[in-house]
Amino acid sequence: MRYQSQRIAQIPPYMFAEFKKKKLMMQKAGVDVIDLGIGDPDLPTPKHIRDKLIEEMAYPENFKYPSFIGCFEFRQAVADFYKQQFNVDLDPETEVLALIGSKEGLAHLVPSVIDPGEIVLAPDPGYPPYRMAVSLAGGQLFTMPLLKENNFEPEFQNIPENIANEAKLMFLNYPGNPTSATVDIDFFQRAVSFAEKNKIVIAHDAAYNMVTFDDYRAPSILQAEGAKETAVEFGSLSKTYSMTGWRIGYVVGNKEVIKALSVYKSNTDTGQFTPIQKAAAHALKSSQDCVKASNDIYAGRMKAMTDALASIGVNTAPARGTFFIWAPVPRGYTSAEFANTVLEKTGVIITPGHAFGTAGEGYFRISLSVPTDRLTEAINRMKKELTIITN
Ligand SMILES: *Cc1c(COP(=O)(O)O)cnc(C)c1O
Repeated sequence: MRYQSQRIAQIPPYMFAEFKKKKLMMQKAGVDVIDLGIGDPDLPTPKHIRDKLIEEMAYPENFKYPSFIGCFEFRQAVADFYKQQFNVDLDPETEVLALIGSKEGLAHLVPSVIDPGEIVLAPDPGYPPYRMAVSLAGGQLFTMPLLKENNFEPEFQNIPENIANEAKLMFLNYPGNPTSATVDIDFFQRAVSFAEKNKIVIAHDAAYNMVTFDDYRAPSILQAEGAKETAVEFGSLSKTYSMTGWRIGYVVGNKEVIKALSVYKSNTDTGQFTPIQKAAAHALKSSQDCVKASNDIYAGRMKAMTDALASIGVNTAPARGTFFIWAPVPRGYTSAEFANTVLEKTGVIITPGHAFGTAGEGYFRISLSVPTDRLTEAINRMKKELTIITN
C-alpha cells in the first residue's frame, strides 16, 4: 500500500515545524527559550479592525458561502488602497482577487500558470513555499542567487538564455524575506523588461510592502511601465496589521493570470469568511496610523538588535523594511553551527540561512516579531555569552 505521492514524499518537513519540535524539547528540559526564528507579529491586531469583525458577526447573511473572488467591498478597498498608496489603477472586477492569506495564493498560482516540467525562477535565499509549490506542481525550479554585492537582487543577465526563454514564471519578493533587502522602482522596471522579453509571468510577493522605516516607501511592481502585461503582486494583511491568524490577502495585476488562479481556487476553496473580508476592507480604508505605530516599534527593535550584534562583532546595516535582520555568521562558523551555538549558549532560536536556500549559507536570520522585553533579554544573553566566540 502506498500512502504518499512521489511529490509529497520528496517535500522535506516544513522548516519551522522542525524548529518547533526542538523548542518544545528544550522547554521540557527547563530552558527559557526565546524564539527569534519565526516571523509572526507579537503585536495585537489594532482594535478598530477587531471591532469591525465583531460588528459584521451580527449579520446572518455573512455566514453563507462567500463569493469565490472575494466580496466586492474587499476588492474595492484593495483597489482604492493601490490608488492611494501607489497611484495604480485597478479594476476590482478583473484585477483583484481575494486570497485566504497570500501563501495560499502563491502556492496555487504555480499549477494555475505552469504545466509539469516547466521552469520556474525563484530567489535563493527565498521564502520556502515558492520552491515547495514548484515541486508540488511538478515544475522545474531554477534558482536565482541573491548576493549582498548586488543588494540581494537577482542578476537577470546571468540567467542562461535557454532557461530565460523557457521559464514561465518568476517569483520576486521585496522588501525581502529573509534578506530584508529593499529595492527602488528601477529594479522593478528591469524585472518587467526581462519578463516581457522572455514572456515570463512575474509573481511579486509584497507581504512586507507596508513594513518600512524612516522615509523609505516600498514601490509596487505595478508602478513599472508595462507591468500589467506580465506581473501580478501578492499583498497580505498579515504583517501590516498583525493579522497572520486571520488568513486574508489578495493578488492584483494581470487579469489573465488572475483569471487562471481564480479557476484553480474556485475548484479548491470557497473563499475567506465574509466578516474577515469586511474587517480587512475596513483596515485598508481606515487611517494607517496603526501601521506607523507598529513600524516604529520594529524600527526601535531593529536598532537595538543591530547595535547588539555589532558589539559581538557581527556588522550589518539596519534594514529599510521587514522585521528581519539578515546577517553574516562570524568567521569559522557554518550557519547551522552558529545557530546551534547561539541556542546552546543563550537559549535563543535564530534561523540558519541555508534553511532559505543554498545561497543563504553563511548567514542567519533574526525575527524582531517578539515582545520588546523578550528581545532585550535575548540581547543581554547574547552580549554576555557570545563575546568570546567572535574574538
Ligand atoms: C509571511 C509571509 C507571507 C505569508 O503571508 P500570509 O498572507 O499570512 O499567507 C508571504 N510571503 C512572505 C515573504 C512572508 O514572509
